[in-house]
Parts: sequence; C-alpha cells; structure tokens
Amino acid sequence: MDDDKTIICRDCKTPFLWSAGEQAFFKSKNFTETPKRCKPCRTIRRAQQEQLQAEERRPWDAAAEDRASMARRDKYAAQRGEQ
Ligand SMILES: [Zn+2]
Repeated sequence: MDDDKTIICRDCKTPFLWSAGEQAFFKSKNFTETPKRCKPCRTIRRAQQEQLQAEERRPWDAAAEDRASMARRDKYAAQRGEQ
C-alpha cells in the first residue's frame, strides 16, 4: 500500500495531498504521470478547456444557425407570396 504523498500544485503552488487511494486509482488506470495540480486548479483548468472547446465550436454553430434562419425567412416569404 502506498503512502499519501504531498505534491506542490503547478498552478497555485499550494501543497496538496495525493492520497494512497488516488494513487491506487491512478495505478488501476495505468496512469504513469503524477497529478500536477490540486483539485481546485484541475477543476478550473477543465472548465477553461471546455470553454475553449465551446468557443471553437461556436463559429460553425453560428453559420449553421444563420443558414437555418435564412431558410425559415425564405419559407415565410414564399408563404406570404413575396417571392
Ligand atoms: Zn492549485
């Protein structure tokens, strides 16, 4: 059984505990790297990455939405006999 380890968070420089249970979990997943960030920093980082991914998706979504609303407008215009 491994002992709890103290790791200095790469982002906020706060020492945090990497518990024996978490180490066992890492081992069971065959993760070879040790965690580099404390839990709050990991949470923030994950949120930032999701935000980035969302922003990368947005241009495509906006273009698709534009096309959809244009198609709707054309349809209504046709129904009103404006075309
Ligand atoms: Zn941290």
